[in-house]
Amino acid sequence: MRKHIVILGAGFSGMWSALSAARLIDLHQQKDIDVTVIAPQPELRVRPRFYETQVEGLTAPLQPLFDVTGVKFIQGVVSRIVVENKQVIFSNAASETQCVHYDRLILATGSHLDRSFVAGVDRHAFDLDQIESAAVLEQHLNGLAQCEDSPARNTVVVCGGGFTGIEMAMELPARLRKLLGEEAKTRVVVVERGPMAGARYSQALRDVVMQASEELGVEWMVNAEVEHIDADGVTLKDGQKIASKTVIWTVGVQANALTAQIAAPRDAQGRLHVNHALQVEGHDDVYATGDVAYAATDDKGNHALMTCQHAIQLGKFAGNNAAASLLAVEPLPYRQENYVTCLDLGAWGAVYTEGWDQQVKLTRADAKKLKLSITSELIYPPKAEKATAFKIADPLAPFV
Ligand SMILES: Cc1cc2nc3c(=O)[nH]c(=O)nc-3n(C[C@H](O)[C@H](O)[C@H](O)COP(=O)(O)OP(=O)(O)OC[C@H]3O[C@@H](n4cnc5c(N)ncnc54)[C@H](O)[C@@H]3O)c2cc1C
Repeated sequence: MRKHIVILGAGFSGMWSALSAARLIDLHQQKDIDVTVIAPQPELRVRPRFYETQVEGLTAPLQPLFDVTGVKFIQGVVSRIVVENKQVIFSNAASETQCVHYDRLILATGSHLDRSFVAGVDRHAFDLDQIESAAVLEQHLNGLAQCEDSPARNTVVVCGGGFTGIEMAMELPARLRKLLGEEAKTRVVVVERGPMAGARYSQALRDVVMQASEELGVEWMVNAEVEHIDADGVTLKDGQKIASKTVIWTVGVQANALTAQIAAPRDAQGRLHVNHALQVEGHDDVYATGDVAYAATDDKGNHALMTCQHAIQLGKFAGNNAAASLLAVEPLPYRQENYVTCLDLGAWGAVYTEGWDQQVKLTRADAKKLKLSITSELIYPPKAEKATAFKIADPLAPFV
C-alpha cells in the first residue's frame, strides 16, 4: 500500500523537509511513498529580508523545484490536525474543505507576531512579520512625503530591540532621508524594555550595535515599556509620549497555532518539544520543524532559535527522518553545533558573529558583503534540478 508523508508549510523548513524526504526515497529507489506539501502558495517567502524595500518581490517560486524532485503540492490552508485518525483538514484553493490522510506528518507552519500584547498594536502599529504586513508598512513609509511636515511624520518608533527591531531601525535613517529629503528632521527611536541596547547579546556585539546606532543617529530608549499605541504615537508606562505616525511592532513571536492541536509539551513560544529525530514527544508519526520545533542543537543545552539558519537544517533532518521511518532506515539525530549571526546595520554595514557567545568576526563592509551573500543566495531555494537539489538536501551536507 502507498505511504504518504504530508508536510504543512512551504517556508524554509517545509521546503527542505520535502526535498530531503524526496531525496532519501529516491536514494532507496522506493516508488510507493508520496511526499506532499500543503501551503497557501507554492513559493518561499524570504522573511529575513522583510525590512528591505520592494518587499512584495521577496519570494521564490517552488513549483518547478517540486516538479523535478517529485514532490506534490496542494494549495491550501490547514485548519485541523486529527492525530487519532492521521488526518489533516484544510481549505483548498477553491475554499472547499478537504481532508488528507498521512502516515507521517511534518509540521512546518512557522511563526507569527503576537499583536495582542499591548493595547493599540492591532489597530495602530505596523510590523514586518509577514509579506502582506511588511508591504503595508512599505506603502505607508512611501506615502509619508505626502503628509504635512511634523515631528510625528518624521519620527519612526521601533518597539523592541531584538534582531528584527535592530535591522529595521538601522535601515530607516537612510530610507527616511531618501523619502522625506535631506533637510527633514527625521528621527528613529528604538523602545527597549531591557536595561541597555542589545542587553541579551554579547558585549562585543552590543558595542558594535551601539557604535552603528550612534553613527546613524538611531536613538535608544531603554528600560522603556510601551503602555499603549494610538493614532498619535506611543505612550510609555512612565507617561512619556512619542509623537509618531509610524510605530513598528517587533516583539512577541509565537509558533503557529496548529501546534496547540497536538497534545504534547510546548515551550513558552508554543514550540513543540521534539526528540533528536525531531518527532514530537509522544507522537512518533508527527515531526515538528523550523519555528514550531523546540529542538536541542547539541548536548550543551543549546536549542534551535526561530531563525532561518535553524529552520533550514531542522527541515532537512525532519524530512530525512520521516522518510527513514517509512523505509525502516535509522534516523539521523539532529545536530547543529555551529551558530552564527549576521546582522544588517544599514548604511553602517553589518556585523557577523560566531558561536553561542557571539564573538564578533567581521564588521562594516566585510560583514555586509557576507550578509548579502546569505540573504540573496544561501537561504534561497536551490536550482530546479534534481541532482543539485538532492545534493544540498542531504542533512549531512556542509551548511554553516
Ligand atoms: C522580519 C524578519 C527578519 C528575520 N531575520 C532573520 C535573519 O536575519 N536570520 C535568520 O536566520 N532568521 C531571520 N528571521 C526568522 C526566519 O525568517 C524564520 O525563522 C524562518 O522563516 C522560519 O522558517 P519556517 O519554515 O519555520 O517558517 P516560515 O518561513 O514562516 O514558513 C511557514 C510556512 O507555513 C505556511 N503556513 C502557515 N500556516 C499555515 C496553515 N495553517 N496551513 C498551511 N500552511 C501554513 C506559510 O504560508 C509558510 O509557507 C526573520 C524573520 C522575520 C519575520
